[in-house]
Amino acid sequence: MNIIFGPIQSRRFGESLGVDLSPQTKQCNYDCLYCELEGKKAQMSMQEVLKVEDILTAIKDALKKYKNIQSLTITANGEPTLYPYLYELMLKLEDIKGDSQTLLLTNGSLLWDLNISKACLLFDKVKFSLDAITQETFRKIDRPLKNITLEKILAGIYQFSADFSGELYAEILFVKGINDTILEAQKMAQFLASMRLKRLDISTIDRPPAYAVKPLSLEELQKLANIFYAYNLPVFLPTRVNPTTPKNIDLTQEQILKTLALRPMSIEDVRGLWSDSTQTLLQNLICSKQVIKISLNGVEFYDLPKGLHSK
Ligand code: SF4
Repeated sequence: MNIIFGPIQSRRFGESLGVDLSPQTKQCNYDCLYCELEGKKAQMSMQEVLKVEDILTAIKDALKKYKNIQSLTITANGEPTLYPYLYELMLKLEDIKGDSQTLLLTNGSLLWDLNISKACLLFDKVKFSLDAITQETFRKIDRPLKNITLEKILAGIYQFSADFSGELYAEILFVKGINDTILEAQKMAQFLASMRLKRLDISTIDRPPAYAVKPLSLEELQKLANIFYAYNLPVFLPTRVNPTTPKNIDLTQEQILKTLALRPMSIEDVRGLWSDSTQTLLQNLICSKQVIKISLNGVEFYDLPKGLHSK
């Protein structure tokens, strides 16, 4: 069971060690069209739950192995705030994280829940997603459980933004023909403009999605980004980070498969981050067809064949 993955060069948060709170299977209350994991019916709660002590041991071991980690990114093969012991984990993580900052990547759907938001308040940085501002678009793009209403989610995000003293980030991912109207963007901008955001990432699909949906062109994305600029939001249009300093990350075959199951890696990322021996193991996995190459928007990625992702 691989709770830790990476280190990866995050295009947003530097060198980051990922902590997967759901390493065996995808567990999420959304089933987003653009998800980098395979599509799976949304679920209300985690069925497979890790012990807090196992997570802490994995983090301790990884921090001994990899020095200078800038960010401990708490995420999941799905939605990390579904993890029922997040508060306890965060309290105990304080004692072992050293200089690294904790970052939560969440879909923001449960911030209205006081038991969950009190755990989220313990992070140094929180990044939440917002893909829609109207219920109809929300259902279309994020495909949430039926009982989840956008109104409740927006209220939760708004309250959390007022209570949180760390760095707050937001991301909007635009999908062609789904959430990319001017009106939707204007309403999202109005909503976000009232918050103390450190940064707003505006992006589109840049990794193979769960369902057959299309990215926006850079021009289309720029046009939408201009709406957010007009509201004085700290907009960032991310571009892929190509590491300039060669890294030497040694991974086993199992770790390579785990990393790719969570996040396809571009050929440039692999060349820049993984050691020669790791790249040799990767080639072996390609020969045995456990890893494939795919192309998206002119960028080539290493990925797992469909069906071998976590489900
Ligand atoms: S993109 Fe995130 S929130 Fe959406 S289904 Fe995938 S894991 Fe869940």
